[in-house]
Amino acid sequence: MTHRARSATRSGGDPRQAETHCPYCALQCGMVLRETGDRVEVLPRQFPTNRGGLCQKGWTAAELLDHPDRLTTPLVRDPATGELRPATWAAALDRIAADIRAVQTGYGRDAVAVFGGGGLTNEKAYALGKFARVALRTRHIDYNGRWCMSSAAAAGIRAFGVDRGLPFPLADLGRAETLLLVGANPAETMPPLMRHLADQRERGGRLIVIDPRVTATARQADLHLQPLPGTDLAVANALLHIALTEGLIDKDYVAARTTGFDEVRRTVAGYWPAEVERLSGVPMADLEATARALGTARSAIILTARGAEQHAKGVDTVSAFVNLALALGLPGRPGSGYGCLTGQGNGQGGREHGQKADQLPGYRKIDDPAAREHVAGVWGVDPDDLPGPGVPAYQLLESLGTPGGPRAMLVFGSNPVVSAPRAALIESRLRGLDLLVVADFLLSETAALADVVLPVAQWAEEEGTMTNLEGRVLRRHALRQPPPGVRTDLAVLTELAARLDAPASFPADPAEVFTELRRASAGGVADYAGVSWERIDADEGVFWPCPDPDGPDTPRLFADSFATPDGRARFQPVTHRPAAEQVCVDYPLHFTTGRVLAQYQSGTQTRRVAALRRAAPGGFVELHPDLAARLGVVEGDEVRVASRRGELRAPARLTPTIRPDTVFAPFHWGGAARANSVTSDATDPVSGMPEFKICAVRVEKA
Ligand code: SF4
Repeated sequence: MTHRARSATRSGGDPRQAETHCPYCALQCGMVLRETGDRVEVLPRQFPTNRGGLCQKGWTAAELLDHPDRLTTPLVRDPATGELRPATWAAALDRIAADIRAVQTGYGRDAVAVFGGGGLTNEKAYALGKFARVALRTRHIDYNGRWCMSSAAAAGIRAFGVDRGLPFPLADLGRAETLLLVGANPAETMPPLMRHLADQRERGGRLIVIDPRVTATARQADLHLQPLPGTDLAVANALLHIALTEGLIDKDYVAARTTGFDEVRRTVAGYWPAEVERLSGVPMADLEATARALGTARSAIILTARGAEQHAKGVDTVSAFVNLALALGLPGRPGSGYGCLTGQGNGQGGREHGQKADQLPGYRKIDDPAAREHVAGVWGVDPDDLPGPGVPAYQLLESLGTPGGPRAMLVFGSNPVVSAPRAALIESRLRGLDLLVVADFLLSETAALADVVLPVAQWAEEEGTMTNLEGRVLRRHALRQPPPGVRTDLAVLTELAARLDAPASFPADPAEVFTELRRASAGGVADYAGVSWERIDADEGVFWPCPDPDGPDTPRLFADSFATPDGRARFQPVTHRPAAEQVCVDYPLHFTTGRVLAQYQSGTQTRRVAALRRAAPGGFVELHPDLAARLGVVEGDEVRVASRRGELRAPARLTPTIRPDTVFAPFHWGGAARANSVTSDATDPVSGMPEFKICAVRVEKA
């Protein structure tokens, strides 16, 4: 066992209180839920990631438990009126099972798809993957984590042989002499994380931010590089070029711990800082200062997030920063390294246990015969009966209802009508399905289109585990039972599997599911075999891999070797290329999307919280005042942002913190302000991640 400080147990014996974690982002801040009278109070809790801090989303999370919009009965669409009408659970589940059978009889097993989410617990993500492969025997399962983390995941596997967002505890950030954040805005997305950056500053550390916008995080930086969207890769190659020119490379590390550097050296030789300045707009002096700050520091950490990832070249962009980190000898060195800031609450665990199209539990590959045999053995089925890999999320959604594509889909914990790129097309695809089932606790925009809506439990009403951005497995503790009429996602899968005569068991008890998950993940990359709920409670979480119940967990990876066959990290030669869509006469501006402090993801939950709605009541379009003047737009004017795929309308917000050639809109809202009506459907060829961060638009006063 490690010797991290012991945390208190579930409730300290008080049944009206539970120690758990926030339901939202991957920081998974520790919190206490307490029933006081007729309301649930949220109190912050000391935990290594949040150190007693919470953001406004966390403080207000319990408001949804008794929200009037809460779904408490299944809804089934009446074929005569087209309305969603209350139904019994038996009727709703019977209807789903009958329709699945009819679709699969008529069109084959792959005609039914499953779409999951990065907010589902490990137990649910695991059970959903098993349900798709064993109960439905469809290859079509994927999840909204494709929108969020998949490019860094692919780049991590390519370089290190393993994808764990942070290969070190978050507290290491405070010890980095230089910290480079690329396309990350934790001051707005994960405010308590800034406590670690404050530590770093107090110790004399230097913060450098690369972001096209002057974000709240960028304002706190010692140096802010503000590149044109889509040019991060060139910036990274220029930084490595400078590091080479100035003799900052850690030659011993490169020789002893890596392969492939010579080709990368040849590639970056062409990235002259002056040329990259012309391409990206980042002054050469700032490129040089950044390379020196990283290359001369005793300890340095490079972190990437969605800004680097959400491009059609997102994997290569992340690889360019990983190359830089490797050349400087950072990964595996104490207080140094490369990491990725995961976004969704269980973005890490949700991509480890089988809801990805190409994956089996334990981060195994579904096309690996040994992996199929192991997992099929745990599930008690023939490995030959497991389907092969499916397709990434966008390709899956785009194919719905098309010839050869799925004709039915089950959605758990996701709202693609708001969150998917080219959302108007995806909405029409969903409308065209023979059967759309959505399990949610609120009527999201996607649920509103469904044939059957299943009301499921919220985070404070269920037990389970989440894996945070550090790869630390955490316990989610229930404060109370779900309200009458509401069931857990696991119970839904149990019922459906029984109706579909699934040849394996689907327990509704999360503890039983976790025990099975441990066996299924044993020996895999993300090995949870030694993780027990008791150990998590006793030890402030457990870092995977943890293969042995009596052995240590792994807070830090790569100290001695990487998870590649030869133990060495692999450099990847990568080159800049333009965004999939270029600005032109008709669409002369760059469009980019992101988040705001008081809203979360597609907003289904946070848009219904009164305090958050007051803080961030609706969508907006951020424009530079010079651009606004050219367009004849003043603050608050409604503007129309149009791309080749659609348009959004929202009030203009004028700010000098954005480039005059770029406009920004947050993606939390549906309807007219839906940012994803505009976004590009280009995806990264390796990760399948959409290019949310750049497309070409025109803007006019509406
Ligand atoms: S949303 Fe994220 S940063 Fe905010 S309280 Fe929840 S876990 Fe913490």
